[in-house]
Amino acid sequence: MPLMKSWVASANSAETPFPLNNLPYGVFSTQDTDPRCGVAIGDMILDCQAAEESGLIDLGDVALFEVPFWNDLMEEGPAVWAALRARLTALLVQGSPEQAKVEPLLVPMADATLEMPIMVSEYTDFYAGRHHATNVGTMFRGAENALPPNWLHIPIGYNGRASSVVVSGTDIRRPWGQLKSPDHALPAFLPCRRFDIELEMGAIVGTPSDGPITVQEADANIFGYVLLNDWSARDIQAWEYQPLGPFQAKATATSISPWIVTKAALEPFRCDTPPREFELLDHLKDVGPMLYDINLSVTLAPAGKPASTIARTNYKEMYYSAAQQLAQHTTAGSPMNAGDLLGSGTISGAEKSERGSLLELSWGGKEPFTLDCGETRSFVEDGDTLTLTGVAKGDGYVIGFGDCTGTVLPALEDPYKR
Ligand code: MN
Repeated sequence: MPLMKSWVASANSAETPFPLNNLPYGVFSTQDTDPRCGVAIGDMILDCQAAEESGLIDLGDVALFEVPFWNDLMEEGPAVWAALRARLTALLVQGSPEQAKVEPLLVPMADATLEMPIMVSEYTDFYAGRHHATNVGTMFRGAENALPPNWLHIPIGYNGRASSVVVSGTDIRRPWGQLKSPDHALPAFLPCRRFDIELEMGAIVGTPSDGPITVQEADANIFGYVLLNDWSARDIQAWEYQPLGPFQAKATATSISPWIVTKAALEPFRCDTPPREFELLDHLKDVGPMLYDINLSVTLAPAGKPASTIARTNYKEMYYSAAQQLAQHTTAGSPMNAGDLLGSGTISGAEKSERGSLLELSWGGKEPFTLDCGETRSFVEDGDTLTLTGVAKGDGYVIGFGDCTGTVLPALEDPYKR
């Protein structure tokens, strides 16, 4: 499908991340308004709360936009999702008879502050990028044991903290933690010295489930996708992760991009998972293209310096789709809720320039890399701003997510000072 023309002129450029084909969902506030749901169109946001109050959006008996998050809409299920998308398209398409009524409900994006788009019910992070898992496994356990024996048979993950998920733009404070240097017999409590990022996609569950669901059902239950940065304290992780997996290493923050790009908008970009080394068991078998062709990049800007692109890769590098991860998540009976967030796992490609974490880019700190401004990095330094971007390239248009960015603040001098 080519670019769909809107009467919002800025939505018709081939470069805007938010053409009519996209219609991503976010929450915004302005100087005059409290946080509320909105839809990005070009360089504007359509105020969904105002559109519902004025009767321009009417999806039945329930008011969906009285609350500043998208969970209520998500819980309504795919038929209502489709109805809303059709209605928004009708309101914003070139030649819409309702243009005059909709125009006053547009807010310039430049005047808006973007907030968390959803209430995160629970957060799970997976480990489904083969190049990433191979790289990290090689560094932590040696090339012989790089991939854990289960890795090619199930998507593995850990239960993270919903409370730690923050919207793009939120500053990230370097954590303290218990560290154990190989040079010392005993651990010490210190500020993290190996603070890192993980380039990931986040899938958001829309339709709740109770009990095991198939891959096909899981795909249908996913509402949309965001960019996700899983901030990671590598030195805390190295000491704590065996045998129960990451804990405090991943508890500082997880940043997500402000706009939820719906599964409907990503439909033209579906692609297959890679060839399987072992046939997957029936409950995880691929039943159609469920990854997406989304170009991803990471930039790093030291304080007061220009940004350098440090990695470029693509979501299609993943071994497991979000649908397979969600299906696996339910096999033992765990209910899933609207607003559950599933991190894909770090996305790295085969090449050195395609690695989605500084741990891999600097090979555990052994090979510092150079930024365009001349500085070198092994891990994230105080004042650095890390930004993830994602773009799906369509026929004369692109689908964007809005940046997922965060600046790292120095560790507190004493985290227990009251
Ligand atoms: Mn992760």
